[in-house]
Amino acid sequence: MFVGHYAAAYALKAKQPNASLAVLFIAVQFVDILFFPFVLFGVEKLEFVENYTEVNNFQMDYYPFTHGLISSVVWAIFAYVLFVFVFNKGKKVALVVALAILSHWFIDVIVHTADLPLLSGDPKFGFGLWNNKNAAFIVEIALLIFAYLWYLNTTKAVKNGINFANWIFITFLIVVNYLNFYVLPPSNNINELTISALVSFFLLAGLAYFVDKTRVSKV
Ligand SMILES: [Zn+2]
Repeated sequence: MFVGHYAAAYALKAKQPNASLAVLFIAVQFVDILFFPFVLFGVEKLEFVENYTEVNNFQMDYYPFTHGLISSVVWAIFAYVLFVFVFNKGKKVALVVALAILSHWFIDVIVHTADLPLLSGDPKFGFGLWNNKNAAFIVEIALLIFAYLWYLNTTKAVKNGINFANWIFITFLIVVNYLNFYVLPPSNNINELTISALVSFFLLAGLAYFVDKTRVSKV
């Protein structure tokens, strides 16, 4: 799952307007931000398998530190402590950042084949929606749009008039996902994958930072 993770960012932003949308965009992808470099340095493992699913061409063999449910909880607690005691953002903001990190596992479980461990080894979880490209695409976009509309509903534009920036941004996310699913050729080069993943995650978080400024909470 890629842009589907931002559904969790929008939903948590709707719940806690004091949290930064950009920070939530990073938090929902936090374990993937670690995963690709971890693979690059041999800490975790990914194997290229042609047509592994209808959506991707790699199998995640071993990724206990980033995609174990227990490690996700540990990362979430770590972020909570960091946001309360180091960044002084308060417990409520720290909680949604922690939940954003944890959400990654639960959103991944929808699409991944049964490869998500509790920590390492069996049992492993994943409903395998990636085996049906169109269904995976629709679910990912539906999640995103549903959460985005909820966010729109709980916030209002800073300036009067239609809030173009947000609609352009959400359209951009959908287009990026479309290209990813249907247009761009799959890469089987880990350097390429790592760079494109990290650039996308930080670029989208940067854009989220700007659109976040265009809306404020209704309450
Ligand atoms: Zn992931």
